[in-house]
Amino acid sequence: MEKTVQLYEGKAKKVFATEDENLCIVSYKDDATAFNGLKKGTIVGKGIVNNRMSNMLMQLLEKQGVPTHFVKELSDRDTLVKKVSIVPLEVIIRNVSAGSFAKHYGVAEGIQFDEPTIEFSYKNDELGDPLLNSYHALALKLATKEEIETIKRLAFKVNEVLIAYFKTLGIRLVDFKLEFGRLPDGIIVLADEISPDTCRLWDLKTNEKLDKDRFRRDMGGVEDAYKEVFKRLMGE
Ligand code: ADP
Ligand code: UDP
Repeated sequence: MEKTVQLYEGKAKKVFATEDENLCIVSYKDDATAFNGLKKGTIVGKGIVNNRMSNMLMQLLEKQGVPTHFVKELSDRDTLVKKVSIVPLEVIIRNVSAGSFAKHYGVAEGIQFDEPTIEFSYKNDELGDPLLNSYHALALKLATKEEIETIKRLAFKVNEVLIAYFKTLGIRLVDFKLEFGRLPDGIIVLADEISPDTCRLWDLKTNEKLDKDRFRRDMGGVEDAYKEVFKRLMGE
């Protein structure tokens, strides 16, 4: 399958149309942004890690009963996916306090929760992705009640599968962001990516950060952290 026209260029990926109107090709870049685009940079090799890691995890999730957009990995940076209409919600699951949760509620990072939390933000860069609850999402007609229920169920299922899998790699899944989309028949599938850009991943033993926080917080060792996660995933 070949790329035809570019449909969209985002902060981390480009999306291309193909000869099949139901399929598109996602192309992963090394560009990194944080704080709603305020901080910009490059993480060399990130596009390859994020593409291959996302594809691997999407296939694992499919096997565990989570429908995803994944079709075929075409190259190190390019993947064929089912074209969806993205539900404009960023779905965030947390197992451990960190980032904006720690800041909003005035708690330390690293507190393990008894149960995971879920929250939504409105995927809208101009508004700065504001937090909202499911009633707000319904009022704004971002999704139906049934879609929101499906999204919640699938997001918690993704969490269960990923916690267990990352544990085998010596990684603690602290929190992550998911996006879902609608296929032409209305079926909700997991879309976008699952990578160190969208997850907080801490080494199980040392709590060392193996994710984009190293970029956000100018901690150094950004490329090495992405490579380390990739190495553990691929068993290389
Ligand atoms: P952003 O839009 O936040 O800058 P990216 O650079 O990752 O993000 O751009 C990728 C875009 O493609 C996102 O807007 C994402 O919602 C969208 N997308 C992800 N998967 C699919 C898919 N299967 N079909 C259509 N769009 C998708
Ligand atoms: N996240 C993301 N994209 C966003 C916002 C958050 O991928 O636009 C991920 C982020 O990497 C982290 C989780 O969602 O794994 C929770 O992020 P948080 O709300 O703590 O926000 P941040 O600290 O990024 O402001």
